[in-house]
Amino acid sequence: MKRIKIFAPATVANLSCGFDVLGCCLDTVGDEMIITLSSKPGVRITKIQGADLPLDAKKNVAGVAVEALLLKYNGTAGVDIEIYKKIKAGSGIGSSAASSAGAVWAVNHLLNNPFLPHELVAFAMQGEKLASGNAHADNVAPALLGGFTLVRSYDPLDIVKLHTPQDLVMTIIHPQIEVKTSDARSVIKQNVTLKQAIHQWGNVGGLISGLFTEDYELIGRSLEDVIIEPMRSILIPEFKNVKKVAIQQGALGCGISGSGPSIFALSKGIDTATKVAEAIRQVYAKTALDFDIHISKINNQGVKIIS
Ligand code: ADP
Repeated sequence: MKRIKIFAPATVANLSCGFDVLGCCLDTVGDEMIITLSSKPGVRITKIQGADLPLDAKKNVAGVAVEALLLKYNGTAGVDIEIYKKIKAGSGIGSSAASSAGAVWAVNHLLNNPFLPHELVAFAMQGEKLASGNAHADNVAPALLGGFTLVRSYDPLDIVKLHTPQDLVMTIIHPQIEVKTSDARSVIKQNVTLKQAIHQWGNVGGLISGLFTEDYELIGRSLEDVIIEPMRSILIPEFKNVKKVAIQQGALGCGISGSGPSIFALSKGIDTATKVAEAIRQVYAKTALDFDIHISKINNQGVKIIS
């Protein structure tokens, strides 16, 4: 029997200036999954622990993503999927993407890698389409490729893996309120001004250049979003205060993780990331909200085999 247990990583999409195109992969935050190849054709979700999600493979992003893969696979295969959820759905750190990416990566591995990484991104995007109505790749690409990724183009799909400076550490606060990706999308205006666009693509270029040259100050200056953050941050309690204290404690930048409600702060070094976490904790401790805080290095590998 061919069976594999994997770590399916959480991811931070958008990274302030790169709405729908930039993302990065986390190292210590993620789900676990057990994928088994079966002689019985079809895709089955046999177990879900840690979350109330559909067992029907057609309604679960992992099932939909694997079905997309099997449709293109030159052969017959059956797949059983167990999901051990640690990332809550609707957290904004790629809960659905972890399941889609983890499932297609593991099935590809068990089938002896018939598909290339960018083809896996396309399959996993079908899971994202089920979750949010939009086949975006900014979470599944970093989950599959690791590190920082850019979706250079959606049509045709062109994913670029960027460089990951070693010292970058993420601090994430996840307030326990649900912001559905579909709701977070509905607050966004469909038009931007030329002035906003110029500002934004300057920052995208600056961020990518800063990553490749390991220029931490340039990374910090570029983590700015003049288009989406002003509209979406109103959905997130204490966003302004969290950002203020994170920068005060030395974070390079701070913004909304994906569609929220999680907020990320990117720092140079674990010590700064820990100080940032403490300052953010103090902001949220004054509210009546429950919250989780994570500190994670950047995972340059993506999905990992546990056993
Ligand atoms: P996130 O950004 O945290 O992934 P989304 O709002 O994009 O949150 O996706 C969560 C949605 O996807 C929920 O409606 C959830 O029910 C649905 N979903 C279906 N299958 C899964 C799965 N395996 N893991 C997480 N969410 C799933």
